[in-house]
Amino acid sequence: MAEKRDYYEVLGVSKGATDDEIKKAYRKLSKKYHPDINKAPDAEEKFKEISEAYEILSDAQKRAAYDQYGHAGTDPNFGAGAGGFGGGGFGGFSQGGFGGFEDIFDSFFGGSSRQVDPTAPRQGEDLQYSLNLKFEEAIFGVEKEIKYAREDVCKTCHGNGAKPGTQPTVCHKCHGAGTINVERQTPLGRVMSRQTCDVCHGTGKEIKEPCETCHGTGHTKSTHKVNVKVPAGVEDGQQMRLSGQGEAGINGGPYGDLYVIFYVEKSDIFDRDGAEIYYEMPINFVQAALGDEVEVPTVHGKVKLKIPAGTQTETTFRLKGKGAPRLRGGSFGDQHVKVKLITPKNLSDKQKEALRQFAEAGGDKVSEQGEEGFFDKVFGKKRK
Ligand SMILES: [Zn+2]
Ligand SMILES: [Zn+2]
Repeated sequence: MAEKRDYYEVLGVSKGATDDEIKKAYRKLSKKYHPDINKAPDAEEKFKEISEAYEILSDAQKRAAYDQYGHAGTDPNFGAGAGGFGGGGFGGFSQGGFGGFEDIFDSFFGGSSRQVDPTAPRQGEDLQYSLNLKFEEAIFGVEKEIKYAREDVCKTCHGNGAKPGTQPTVCHKCHGAGTINVERQTPLGRVMSRQTCDVCHGTGKEIKEPCETCHGTGHTKSTHKVNVKVPAGVEDGQQMRLSGQGEAGINGGPYGDLYVIFYVEKSDIFDRDGAEIYYEMPINFVQAALGDEVEVPTVHGKVKLKIPAGTQTETTFRLKGKGAPRLRGGSFGDQHVKVKLITPKNLSDKQKEALRQFAEAGGDKVSEQGEEGFFDKVFGKKRK
């Protein structure tokens, strides 16, 4: 990339040029080099250069930064750590194509060149609804009726805003366009600009006798009911889109959508991660040592689980298909049962004696003062 030219040089003005002089110079040059007018191969490049120079020099803050630091002062990252130039950053000139010639004028007067037809049908706003679900409801799915306020199409006038028996008429001022052309005196001479019609406010229609229900707006705020079929297996934070359940559209456009966000309550006994469910089950030392068959709660009801003799604490067993359903595919996850060995407390004398005998049968010595040594041996770690 070639060395950047001095912005004042680009616009052909002196360093002390007034805002007006800068504006005039830009106006002259941008007309001359606008790619829609000037077909010279370097016109586009020149036009960009002119626009960039004008963007900086027409802004007091940017101009001051440029005067002090040169091109470095116009870098968006410049000065970030040293107080900066009011954050935000500037630059970012569009490298894309150019719009019509009127873009220059629009950018000049701060108007938007992107005019939207105000009479065109537009979709209504989307809405959001937070739906709380119980742990089991999220797993098995549920149907719930929800109620919320939304803008509805007025049922009296069916949205046209006119009293029944009458019809809206074409706006006499804009003739249905929704916009009017306004002539303004500017430094460039007389300029036509488009504005939203002040009679019909952009609808292109005039209502002589407004509907009494909606006062001519065509919309009413009402409580809307929807049946939400929550699919089995949804998770906390997931959302569902209900098409057409948002706000009423503008100018007869379609309704917006409703986004239902699910908030799933935690369970006191289960943990869930997707389709997998986790459960911690306390068992005692005898069950772990000798083995047992126990009943384990699952979201599908109680299930029998065989604990083999010699099971260590923290061993995890898998109950296949006893988890939550997978949203896609229809199959179920598993329930993972982690056994937790509970050390007995408050033993009776008889129990203590039995345990001493148990230890001695294994060749261990147990002190009369306590069971510390014995339990350390059995559980392989220090008791607290
Ligand atoms: Zn109405
Ligand atoms: Zn109008």
